[in-house]
Amino acid sequence: MEPFRNEPLVDFTRPGAHERFEAEVEALRRRPPEHLPLVVGGRRVTTSESLVSLNPSHPSETVATVARAGIAEAEAALDAAERALPAWSHLPATARAAVLLRAAGIMRRERTRLSALECVEVGKPRGEADADVAEAIDFLEFYARAVIPLSGPQEVHSAPQELNELRHLPLGVGLILPPWNFPLAILTGMASAAIVTGNTVLLKPSSVTPAIGWRYVEIMEAAGLPPGVLNFVPGSGSEIGAHLVQSPRVRFISFTGSRDVGLKINERAARTPPGQRWIKRVVAEMGGKDAIVVLEDADLTAAAEAIVVSAFGFSGQKCSACSRAIVVEAVYDRLVPELVRRTLNLVIGPAEARSTDVGPVSDAAAMEKILGYIDLGKGEGRLLCGGRRLDGEGYLVEPTIFADVEPRARIAQEEIFGPVLAVLRARDLDEALEIANDTVYGLTGAVFGRSRPALEHARERFHVGNLYINRKCTGALVGAHPFGGFNLSGTDAKAGGADYLRAFVQAQSIAERV
Ligand code: NAD
Repeated sequence: MEPFRNEPLVDFTRPGAHERFEAEVEALRRRPPEHLPLVVGGRRVTTSESLVSLNPSHPSETVATVARAGIAEAEAALDAAERALPAWSHLPATARAAVLLRAAGIMRRERTRLSALECVEVGKPRGEADADVAEAIDFLEFYARAVIPLSGPQEVHSAPQELNELRHLPLGVGLILPPWNFPLAILTGMASAAIVTGNTVLLKPSSVTPAIGWRYVEIMEAAGLPPGVLNFVPGSGSEIGAHLVQSPRVRFISFTGSRDVGLKINERAARTPPGQRWIKRVVAEMGGKDAIVVLEDADLTAAAEAIVVSAFGFSGQKCSACSRAIVVEAVYDRLVPELVRRTLNLVIGPAEARSTDVGPVSDAAAMEKILGYIDLGKGEGRLLCGGRRLDGEGYLVEPTIFADVEPRARIAQEEIFGPVLAVLRARDLDEALEIANDTVYGLTGAVFGRSRPALEHARERFHVGNLYINRKCTGALVGAHPFGGFNLSGTDAKAGGADYLRAFVQAQSIAERV
């Protein structure tokens, strides 16, 4: 295999790039909504009830209707995954890796169609949608390589007159619960890591983005994945999600989503129902309240640009989004107007429009929650810009900045998951770091400054899983920035790093007397 390298992004300044994307979006919007089935042991299964996936830029448009698994279908999917496990887990890792490499090839060929689907199903503007598809390809390519050294014999000391070996075995049948905000990348990374290490899985996509989940399943099948290895069971998180979390037949759960759901899953998975023969393993990657700290000697132009991109890219709906700018007193009054100026220049509109910088938020419930936080913010800070929903049917919320927010204010502590930035004042570096670390989260963070001792101090004291210096706090690259947070941001499994695959295997030590 060639060494891993990140998939280049589409250059939309090249002739025809915009037009190709727009043609795919138009085709998706014009066709009648697809009805998508469950996939259980390779069989298509329809159900009487279905989920409906809407276009958040135009909620009157249905993107797809999707079969909705109940308990019976979930149990049938567990049967299928158990049946497929022995053959799949005994295949050589190279054969499993080959499926991922072929899937990456298919995604490359379908690149524009997949980004167009992200645009209509979750409201990603083209640049963000394309980056998500590129990241999905990266996960496939990266894990296909990382599994090879993990599956071979590991270094162990050989005791006298013994032949000693340590090897990694798959865990068994797993449950994959991805979020909607990186609907192809995170779903692909979570499911493919579990599959390439020899496990079989049930994939329950987010109810917001089932059509993108379905495309992943089709692509993996086309890449040669045997039936039963990947079972597709869209449904209600609180119904079949919760049922499967407690099932004695599930060996591990890989969850990425909100803190409250992740904690509940972790608690429920810790119980041992009758018939369960293992301690369930839980990988739970959760939310953030990420901060960018700006010091007195920072390049203020670069800092302002990074804060605005990190806060409002994909409408702030990233676990890594900057939701707090912590600015030292000395430059506060210079930086804040620059943040406002740049934010007011952002164009808000439907995700498919060429001019759009900030598209819609995911759905009506998310919009109501964000507007609730904006109301709260009016009492907790000084509203500098934004604060309203735009007229029209799309779920468009203005990028909003509150200044002079106190560190313990709710908008400075709770994950809003929308285009809302709180700006906080700090005396100096020490106070800035104290504020930055004073939440229950610890996912990403960034520091802007020039003084080497200050940057070294921040490296030591800023307690986050992904720390960035003099750059934005979003946009982790597979292979370069293994991703995962501290504290209630999660189990720090470091997606996109080689260690991530260890979460899906168990080590067996074998000693033979010779
Ligand atoms: P969510 O917690 O609502 O849902 C995540 C997944 O869990 C979905 O598939 C959902 O259907 C399922 N689910 C919901 N309730 C369940 C239950 N009771 N039992 C089993 N499964 C259940 O999260 P979301 O809204 O899809 O995603 C946004 C959240 O994800 C934000 O908090 C964001 O910060 C976080 N996130 C974290 C990372 C990370 O790497 N740390 C990455 C992306 C998103």
